[in-house]
Amino acid sequence: MDQTSAPELAEDVAAALRAEDMQVLRSRCHGRAHLISTGTAPRGLAERIRPLPGVESVVDTEDALRFTGRAYQRADTVVDVAGVPIGGPAFVVVAGPCAVENRAQMSDSAHGVALAGGAILRGGAYKPRTSPYSFQGLGRAGLRLLAEQREVTGLPIITEVLDVADLDDVLEVADILQVGTRNMSNATLLRAIGRSGRPVLLKRGMAATIEEWLLAAEYILSEGNPDVVLCERGIRTFEPATRFTLDLSAVAAVRRISHLPVIVDPSHAAGRTDLVRPLALAAAAVGADGVMIDVHPDAAGALCDAGQALHPKELAELTADLGRLLTATGRVLAVPPPRAMPARPRALATEGV
Ligand code: PEP
Ligand code: MN
Repeated sequence: MDQTSAPELAEDVAAALRAEDMQVLRSRCHGRAHLISTGTAPRGLAERIRPLPGVESVVDTEDALRFTGRAYQRADTVVDVAGVPIGGPAFVVVAGPCAVENRAQMSDSAHGVALAGGAILRGGAYKPRTSPYSFQGLGRAGLRLLAEQREVTGLPIITEVLDVADLDDVLEVADILQVGTRNMSNATLLRAIGRSGRPVLLKRGMAATIEEWLLAAEYILSEGNPDVVLCERGIRTFEPATRFTLDLSAVAAVRRISHLPVIVDPSHAAGRTDLVRPLALAAAAVGADGVMIDVHPDAAGALCDAGQALHPKELAELTADLGRLLTATGRVLAVPPPRAMPARPRALATEGV
């Protein structure tokens, strides 16, 4: 629909489509109403719809990547996460522990991330663990600790939403929602996140093709939420030397197919601290829009994914290296929003959770 057209006109067009036995899905993207109509189009349908008041264009397409494809939008999407742009010239470093464990661990991690030049703080409160007997996260108490660290450091927060039932709680804290690899094809969750309108990081399913991954993004965009960031986090192959195989070719391929930003998670891909730095540098070199890095003040003792996190000092070394590599390719590191403060000593870290 035309950007300036009255909402009632879209209703009239939807009614005209339904009268021709078509199904209609309403959506808003970039301030514009879209009617996505599916079904077996009767002959001449497009010609009958095109002249209706408020209609800007009618596209007859078999393309399943309606909103994520470059045919819909040629220019790269830049997703604004509470003042931090993802996409565009700046490269974002998202970092923090795999799971929120307690106040001291979150405080040390958050200050370490801020000092190292990270722009967004991660931390899982709801953990989708492989085993039901592993630490499952602190839930709402974990969300409160994340909110506290946003207050102290000013860093925007990313945290995973596992279940539609937790979405409202997570929306109170998350500046950007995370959908994990195990939930990439949870259509109910994707639709609910689409309706929420909050930016979202959509991880690639560990056995999903690029097309399946983009179709998952399509669920979110078609509900009217254009703020999707993709995250390559490794796929399952025959190779046991790393936990997953980081598919860097997917980054280059997705950037051709889609306008959505794409970042890389080398920590969950490799599952090994010693490979995080080279893979993060490779992500920057291949044209990713950022990286997400596990950071923990005591990596070996982490309750979740011990053995893949960097110490905050190692993160600082990595961001310095990334900065140098980016400069050589005409790019820069994204900076935290202006109200983010430099690290403070651990004044708040005395009480338990
Ligand atoms: C995570 O980032 O905390 C996580 C669980 O990652 P993934 O969904 O990629 O396994
Ligand atoms: Mn993890």
